[in-house]
Amino acid sequence: MSRLAVVCGGSRGIGGAVALLLAERGCRVVVLSRDQDSARAAMEALPGGDHLSLSCDVSKEQEVQRSFETIQKTCGSVSYLVNAAGINRDSLLLRTPPHHMVSMLHTNLLGSMLTCRAALRSMLRPPGGAIVNIGSVVGLKGNAGQSVYSASKSGLQGFTRSLAKEVASRNVRVNLLLPGFIRTDMTEGLEDSERLIPLRRFGTGQEVAQAVLFLLESQYMTGAELLVDGGLHLSM
Ligand code: NDP
Repeated sequence: MSRLAVVCGGSRGIGGAVALLLAERGCRVVVLSRDQDSARAAMEALPGGDHLSLSCDVSKEQEVQRSFETIQKTCGSVSYLVNAAGINRDSLLLRTPPHHMVSMLHTNLLGSMLTCRAALRSMLRPPGGAIVNIGSVVGLKGNAGQSVYSASKSGLQGFTRSLAKEVASRNVRVNLLLPGFIRTDMTEGLEDSERLIPLRRFGTGQEVAQAVLFLLESQYMTGAELLVDGGLHLSM
C-alpha cells in the first residue's frame, strides 16, 4: 500500500518540489495551501493518480482540524507530514508592524504546531510516521532585517526537538531541515546574495526535496537538524 504524505505549502516552491518527488516515489500526496486553484493545479501535475488537494490556512486551527479530518476520512492514516508552508516579511524590527509579526509567527511556527498536532492523531493509530519541519539557516544564525522571521524559525528548532522526544516511543520521527537561499518566489530579487554562498549559487527546490526524502526515510534519525544551504552557515 502506498504511503500517504501531506505537504503543507505544496502548491509551489520547496513544498511543490517535495510533493513532486514524493509522488514520483509512489506516495499518495495531499497538497495543502491557502489558494485552492494553485493547490489543485500542483496536485494535478503530480505523476500517479489518487492525490488530493485542499485549501487550508495552516495558521487557522479550525481549517487545519477540518482538513485533517477530511484527509483521514478520504485517504486514511498519514505516514508523512512535511511543513513547508511559510512566509517572510523582511524589515528591520523598528519598521515591522505588529500584524506582520503575528502573521509570520502564526504561519511559520504556530502553523507547523497545528499541523503536527492534527497529523499526529492519525500517526499514533497505528503508531508510526515521520515529520519534516522546514526551518531556515537564518533561525540558526540570525540575520539583520529578519528578526521576527528568524524567531519563527528558531522556534521550530525547540519545537522539533521537544516533539521528537514526545513521540519517539510511538515510532514517530520528527526532524528539521534548514535551507539557505533556494530559488523560489520567496527569494525573487535576491540574486545579489549569491556572493555570500560558498557554493556561489542558490539551491533548487529539488535539492531540498531530496534532503526531505532522506529525513523521511532515515529510520534512525529523529530530533535532527540538516542544513541544505550551499555552505551559507559557514559565512554568516
Ligand atoms: P514559496 O513562497 O515559494 O511557497 C510558500 C508555500 O507556502 C506556498 O505553497 C504557499 O501557498 C504556502 N503558504 C503560505 N502561507 C500559507 C498558509 N498560511 N497556509 C497554508 N499554506 C501557506 O516559499 P518557499 O518554497 O521558498 O518556502 C518554503 C518554506 O521554506 C518556508 O517555510 C520558508 O520559510 C522556508 N525557507 C525558504 C528558503 C528559500 O530560500 N526559499 C530558505 C529557508 C527557508 P499559498 O500562498 O497558496 O498559501
